[in-house]
Amino acid sequence: MKQGKLLYAGKAKSVFHTGTRDTLIVEFRDDITAFDGGKKDTLKNKGSYNAGVSAFFFEYLEKHGVKTHFLQMLDNHRMAVRRLEMIPLEVIVRNVAAGSIVRNYPFKEGTKLDPPVIVIDFKDDSRHDPMLNDDLIVALKLATPSELKKIKKIALEINRFLSALLAKQGILLVDFKIEFGRQGKTIRLGDEISMDSMRLWDKKTRESLDKDVYRFNKGDVMATYNRVAGRIMNAEAHPAGAQKKPAVQKKGAVSGRPAAAKPKAKK
Ligand code: C5P
Repeated sequence: MKQGKLLYAGKAKSVFHTGTRDTLIVEFRDDITAFDGGKKDTLKNKGSYNAGVSAFFFEYLEKHGVKTHFLQMLDNHRMAVRRLEMIPLEVIVRNVAAGSIVRNYPFKEGTKLDPPVIVIDFKDDSRHDPMLNDDLIVALKLATPSELKKIKKIALEINRFLSALLAKQGILLVDFKIEFGRQGKTIRLGDEISMDSMRLWDKKTRESLDKDVYRFNKGDVMATYNRVAGRIMNAEAHPAGAQKKPAVQKKGAVSGRPAAAKPKAKK
């Protein structure tokens, strides 16, 4: 697939045109940032871990009837995706209180949130992604009431599927952030789902297995990504297109490349 001009560069991913109007290429770079870009680094192979895990989740969710933008992996850090008209909402689903919800509200970290709490932020770096409510989303014309209803329903479905998948590997899905876009009238999951956008805890030890390791200097982030990518991708009979054995390295290794889902054309 021909990679064309750069369409958009975010903090950790770049999006490129292709020769086909409806298809884009997402490149997962090795950059990692936290605190609104206040902390930044480049970590070798980090992009391929996030690309591999995202592709794995997208294929898993598609298998369960969730529509995503994913088409196929091109190599271990680039994927072909459907072009979407992105909706500038950061949809966060929380199963356990952690992170900003603990800083901003009187929740004790680790408190189970049942039913899960959905928080939606406005994706706008210049305003530091302020929290929205349904009325604001509609008044700002970011989404219609029926789109919003659909987005919340899909977000909760994704939460159920991913929580169950991760639980099989002893991982607690604490919270995660997802983004959606429109393809015609269809709402599809876009962006990524990876260790950068989820909060994952080991069920037994409550150890962080995600970007909090980087945010709060809790240890070797690449060793954690390597280990958790292996655990995630072994969690389920592998969906079509994903390699059977992720090529993750032994404990403590930092230079391994994760398995990327094999290229597979979608209709
Ligand atoms: O920081 P906060 O607790 O609000 O984050 C909730 C979840 O959303 C975390 O898993 C975090 O990694 C993710 N998130 C994200 N991108 C943002 C904000 C939050 O991936 N801009």
